[in-house]
Amino acid sequence: RADMALYRVKSEGRNNWCFYSAEMDEKLLLRMELEHDLKQAIERDEFELHFQPLLNLKTGEIVSFEALLRWRHPKRGLVSPADFIPVAEESGLIGPIGEWVLRTACRSAAAWPQPWRIAVNISPVQFRYKSLTQLVKTTLKESGLAPRRLELEITETVILNHETHNISILNAIRGLGVRIAMDDFGTGYSSLSYLRAFPFDKIKIDQSFIRDLPHDRNALSIVRAITDMAQTLGVHITAEGVETEAQLHALEALNCHEAQGYLIGRPAPGIEAYFTAVKRYV
Ligand code: C2E
Ligand code: MG
Ligand code: MG
Ligand code: MG
Repeated sequence: RADMALYRVKSEGRNNWCFYSAEMDEKLLLRMELEHDLKQAIERDEFELHFQPLLNLKTGEIVSFEALLRWRHPKRGLVSPADFIPVAEESGLIGPIGEWVLRTACRSAAAWPQPWRIAVNISPVQFRYKSLTQLVKTTLKESGLAPRRLELEITETVILNHETHNISILNAIRGLGVRIAMDDFGTGYSSLSYLRAFPFDKIKIDQSFIRDLPHDRNALSIVRAITDMAQTLGVHITAEGVETEAQLHALEALNCHEAQGYLIGRPAPGIEAYFTAVKRYV
């Protein structure tokens, strides 16, 4: 806690000069504390992965699980990734954290029943570090996980300006036999152009489009357009955030391939519950 006291002293020092910004300083202090704690979170073993199932709508079988990072903070309790991933990205800590996630996810999945795959979220910032391709290669080798069973989820920002550097990394990783999925599809600035920039194996339709199914005609039209297009392109489609039976049935009718959401299963620390649950859903 010694350097935290130091932050406080520094912050109080600033207060002397700018007395009325105490509230802003409080925010900055919280943020600095978070970054400070995040630095130690790996060695203190405070991270865990939760897994959420993806359901194949044709066969009714669970086909894969998405790894979702959780931080069990000693004082703050469970911190949501939405609150600490941005801090990790800005501070550069996403490098070691992302490595921990990939390694832990691949090790876990290597012990799962054969057909089940694992999906891992990769931050755009990770593309700026040491060879991501090399990291994926080494991690697969060390864990013994077959490349076919690994799927990386990236967001549109990775190829925002059709960055050739990132696209060549994606191609190299795909060359290893790993699948590449586009996460949160439809939320970006020009989603369709990204599909031309790289041959994605899978598109995950953002939950904001699924939320208003099946009653909202616009949402239905948009999801239909995406699934139709995917059929033509030969890309797999997953619907995110499926919470109701009505949404699930609408997606089946649209020939959507996969569904993920609280209806099928919430993220959980273990996947044992699914060992006996095959074909229970559709
Ligand atoms: P994402 O990759 O789009 O993950 C899906 C998010 O939707 C997860 O939130 C999941 O818990 C939530 N979700 C799943 N089903 C439902 C549903 O039916 N309804 C609702 N309302 N939400 C649902 P989570 O776990 O809080 O993660 C948020 C985001 O944080 C993720 O969005 C991803 O972008 C990021 N993230 C999580 N883990 C990692 C990680 O290991 N590395 C990186 N770089 N980012 C991560
Ligand atoms: Mg994801
Ligand atoms: Mg998503
Ligand atoms: Mg998201």
